[in-house]
Amino acid sequence: MRILDPHIHMTSRTTDDYERMAAAGVRAVVEPAFWLGQPRTNPGSFADYFDSLVGWEPFRAAQFGIRHHATIALNPKEANDPRCRPVLDLVPRYLDKDSVVAVGEIGYDSMTPEEDDAFTRQLALAVEYELPALVHTPHRDKAHGVKRTLDVVRESGIDPGRVVVDHLNEVTVAAVHDSGCWMGFSIYPDTKMSPPRMVEILREHGLDRVLVNSAADWGKSDPLLTVRTGEAMLAAGFSEDDVDRVLWRNPVEFYGQSGRLDLSDVAGTGPLFEGSSILRGGS
Ligand SMILES: [Zn+2]
Repeated sequence: MRILDPHIHMTSRTTDDYERMAAAGVRAVVEPAFWLGQPRTNPGSFADYFDSLVGWEPFRAAQFGIRHHATIALNPKEANDPRCRPVLDLVPRYLDKDSVVAVGEIGYDSMTPEEDDAFTRQLALAVEYELPALVHTPHRDKAHGVKRTLDVVRESGIDPGRVVVDHLNEVTVAAVHDSGCWMGFSIYPDTKMSPPRMVEILREHGLDRVLVNSAADWGKSDPLLTVRTGEAMLAAGFSEDDVDRVLWRNPVEFYGQSGRLDLSDVAGTGPLFEGSSILRGGS
């Protein structure tokens, strides 16, 4: 099994996690910029965090043979804090970096006017910098949040094929499927979405435009839940090729749209190796 975890907050994880992930087949990760629990009080704090996502964390991952890419944005929760909003002027500088493969996480937390503003401005940045967008959906009032998210995406003019709407469940998957956006699922240890429930969604909606992630962060989470989902797929009768498509080729295709995904030393070769032409993107 080879895995690209398309949404995992490695900043919060230990080297033991990197070791276990590498041993289980995780060869690459994408780490979205998000909040860190403790509220940040000034843009400089974000600059240090963004620098770590494009500098220190890729170095740490490489020690375990894992390729690390990042997505950069002002997250929806901190978009509500006037001390943090100037970060929006800082984001473009990072969108030029080689290892940044999308704008994200953007979207809604509490659906305030401030979040509206940060969301639309950063979707415009995604269009301007020709990058995909990773969109977080609220954990409260999710159905309403996803509907409004899709309206804003549509109005922005970005190609829906370059947007992933994340943290979906059985209630919200159909609307995103119909929108043409990619469908992201975060698998959690005991709430929200589990490997067996994920398998049922794949049975019902197919494997197209689906991304499965562990979203592992500083809360209760497990960086191997992508692997567990692959195992649950096999146990349910999906083929190894199906698993490779969901856990590797789909995220490679989605982030490959950035033209910056570099998997040259970690992708492996063999009959399942596909999409090599987009691996090095515009280079
Ligand atoms: Zn996240």
